[in-house]
Amino acid sequence: MKKHSRRSILFFAGAVLLILAATAVLGFFLRGEMIKIRQREAENILYYYNEKIVLQLQGTMNEADALAKTALVEGTGETEWFERASDTLLSREEVRFVCLFDGDTVVSAQPEEKYAELAGRDLQDFSYAYTLAKVVKELVVEGPVALDIDQEQQKVFLFLQPVVGGESYLGEVAVALDREYVLEQLKLDDLPDRGYDYELWRVEPQNGAKEVIAKNKDDIDFSYAEKTTFYLPSQWNLSIQPSSGWLSPSQQIWIIIASVVAACVLLALAWLGYLHYYRRHAIKQLRTMDGATGLYNQKGFTAALDCWLSDESSPVMLFYFSMEGYSQAARLIGTKQEAVFLRSIPGRLKEYIRSPFLAAYLGSGNFLIALREGMNKLQQEEFAKGLSLELLLKVRVRDEKNFVMARYKYTRCKNGTGRAAEEMESLIHAYYAEVMQESPVRMMTEKCRQLIEGNNDVIFDEYTDFEMTELSKTFNRYRKKVEQLAYFDPVFNVGNRPKYFRDTEMLISYSPKRPFSLFCVDICSFSQYNELFSADVGDEILHEMIRRLSRPFGSYLYRINGDVFLGISLTKEKTDVFAARLQQMLTAPVMAGNLSIPLQIRLVACRYPAHGSTPGILLERLQSAMSFSKTTARSTVIYNDALDEMLRTEAHILHRLSDAIQQKTLEIWYQPLMHLESGQYKAVEALVRLPDGEGGYFPAGQVISLAERNAMVEALGDYVLANACSFMREWGEELGVQRMGINLSVQQLLVGNSAEHLLQLISAANVEPGRITLEITESILIQSIDHAAETLEKLRKAGIHIALDDFGVGYSSLNYLSNLPVDIIKIDRSLTQQILTNEKQYALLRSIVDMSVINDLSVVAEGVESGAEQKMIASAGVQYIQGYYYARPMPGEELIVSLKGRQG
Ligand code: C2E
Ligand code: CA
Ligand code: CA
Repeated sequence: MKKHSRRSILFFAGAVLLILAATAVLGFFLRGEMIKIRQREAENILYYYNEKIVLQLQGTMNEADALAKTALVEGTGETEWFERASDTLLSREEVRFVCLFDGDTVVSAQPEEKYAELAGRDLQDFSYAYTLAKVVKELVVEGPVALDIDQEQQKVFLFLQPVVGGESYLGEVAVALDREYVLEQLKLDDLPDRGYDYELWRVEPQNGAKEVIAKNKDDIDFSYAEKTTFYLPSQWNLSIQPSSGWLSPSQQIWIIIASVVAACVLLALAWLGYLHYYRRHAIKQLRTMDGATGLYNQKGFTAALDCWLSDESSPVMLFYFSMEGYSQAARLIGTKQEAVFLRSIPGRLKEYIRSPFLAAYLGSGNFLIALREGMNKLQQEEFAKGLSLELLLKVRVRDEKNFVMARYKYTRCKNGTGRAAEEMESLIHAYYAEVMQESPVRMMTEKCRQLIEGNNDVIFDEYTDFEMTELSKTFNRYRKKVEQLAYFDPVFNVGNRPKYFRDTEMLISYSPKRPFSLFCVDICSFSQYNELFSADVGDEILHEMIRRLSRPFGSYLYRINGDVFLGISLTKEKTDVFAARLQQMLTAPVMAGNLSIPLQIRLVACRYPAHGSTPGILLERLQSAMSFSKTTARSTVIYNDALDEMLRTEAHILHRLSDAIQQKTLEIWYQPLMHLESGQYKAVEALVRLPDGEGGYFPAGQVISLAERNAMVEALGDYVLANACSFMREWGEELGVQRMGINLSVQQLLVGNSAEHLLQLISAANVEPGRITLEITESILIQSIDHAAETLEKLRKAGIHIALDDFGVGYSSLNYLSNLPVDIIKIDRSLTQQILTNEKQYALLRSIVDMSVINDLSVVAEGVESGAEQKMIASAGVQYIQGYYYARPMPGEELIVSLKGRQG
């Protein structure tokens, strides 16, 4: 309604503007037309004056014409006739002077007493007009001028008539007439009487200047005047314009009045039209709308639905909602509250429904909703269930909260014109048929059955019968208690794993597009707190953890495992920002009794729906992120696709590794070690090679670290040991290789009975232990020296040599060299690499060699790649060199060929 009236106000304002513009245009048009009429009138007057002035000046007043004609007969040289003729002329008051030219020379100028001195003067001595008459051979009228020899300086008009015989100019007659006389004859003063101002003006032929001859008033702007032009032979003009302007003030007022009246009439008409339209529309609305909600009433809904159904192409879903016990509830809350509730309905619908919809209120808490959207049964059910919750009406009776819920029934309409009424009727019928069938007892029984089947969403409604309602409420309480048992950790009163699944499924099914973040929090080595302190301290830590996590996660917090928690966050905050905040909040030390215990937290997160669409997948993602966090020792990991990619590659490698061990396709390559003193390869190192299936190999370091993390390194180690030993047995002697180096991983060393196990493998391969060197890395040895020392001693006792691998990485100290149960040290490539560029490294190498001499150790330098490096390192006194400079690791067959070749 509101939107409608705003639109009509806009429309009306537009109409008003349009009308005003139209009347303004009309006013201007009228004005233009009236001016045109007056201009035409002026044009007629000018036409008359043009004719009259030319006639007067060239004919009636041209006294010179008669004289010129006589001169042609009497001769221009003769003056006698001229004096006579001019006497008669001069007797006329208006004639000022008469003059005769013979050729270019004045022969007579009358009256004699005033102008005698002119005789004998030439044409050129006078004004340009005299010459003009000679050239054009026609009458020239000029004026008003004053002759320079006239002492009175009276203004006159000159009539200069040439005397032309045949084609030739013989002379000229000049007659000067009094200015006032001439102007009077022209009767210009009649113009002001007719209401016009005038201006008679000439264009000076010599310079084009405007020269005003006569006008009735000074200071008048003739820019908008009408004008007529004539030639004598210079250009003469007469301009006139009405002295009151082209439009008199009264005319202007008339035009304005006419425009205003027209505008008023049009506006009144528009207003009437609008009122008419609005009333019809309002009446139509009254007939189709429900006043309380602003939704359609039944009639309006039927018409609108019909319109939808006549379009065969789009499916229409129809829902009927009926609020049970609405009338009683409405009476309880009062009319004011009811009106508020009803008015809120359109807003709630708009909030909830995303596709185009029609809605009707049929009164007494009954609604019809139509959706233009294809839906299956499940979607319809979900939509209806959700909307029935939206339509909830809260009623408070004696401090007890009650809810009036909408029950519903829905159908998919058959399309077709005129079907709406039938569809609505059959839906409502079906609804009531169902209601009639249901007895509260039967319904409650059905719900109990659902509960048993594990559907925990069952809600026991209110019924009209008071006792049934009591029973229903009791059931609800029981249901809640059972739910509490099923979904809550009884000790810490926090959600458990099943609750995580249920909540997440509910979140996803209610709004599948709404994103959320899922966090998993793990307290690092939690068990140690229980061991170090007591179980009470462990419990206190967990309680504190739950307290801290409840703040950001509220009821979406779950304890899924001893010290592992899940939390769902629906906030829009970026996951990494949220995680950083959490991490900071959680690592603050926990106070247990008078202990302040610092915590280390592992925090991982993923997002719905970006990383997974079901609670199960999301949990798997968190587990991936968790294992990534453990292997990389990163305390916060947010799942992403790259991580996924990496985990996939790792899974691929592991898969290939286990296949290769089982099918015995795992390869072992050998890199020989140069014994400097003898110049022979006296030892080799076995290095594992896992084929990647594309002709290459996965990096050995990555394979080993994966195997270590996935409990496969023992199988791998056994495989390598067995194969390297049998290679040694078969080829060792023949190739002059005295010792085979085999790498040991820490896990191989730390399992129970590892020494026995290794010795057994070696003896099974039938190789003397004295021909085997086991290589263990320095860092591992240092970390677990107590556990390892015993094992190493056993191995050494059996004759096996132990090499300290990767020496020089990390915090190596020369001092403990003497205390370690090792025979050989292998200097890491990171040290040998710098031997040429860093003097300190050379000094270090020297002291390692010195120390090893004292302790009876052999030294191997690893990773020597160039001749220069080789020289430098050899000069430091090491016994063995291993590196690309001599040989790269190679398959067994290649090693055989290569070493045999050297011997041969
Ligand atoms: P490592 O024990 O230090 O082995 C030496 C590594 O250095 C080998 O890499 C070898 O190919 C490489 N290397 C040798 N000379 C040069 C050189 O001049 N320049 C350069 N840039 N590299 C050189 P690889 O084969 O990739 O093995 C990497 C690591 O994987 C080994 O380091 C070892 O810790 C481990 N590994 C290999 N095979 C086994 C095995 O069977 N068992 C166990 N536990 N670990 C193994
Ligand atoms: Ca090694
Ligand atoms: Ca090494």
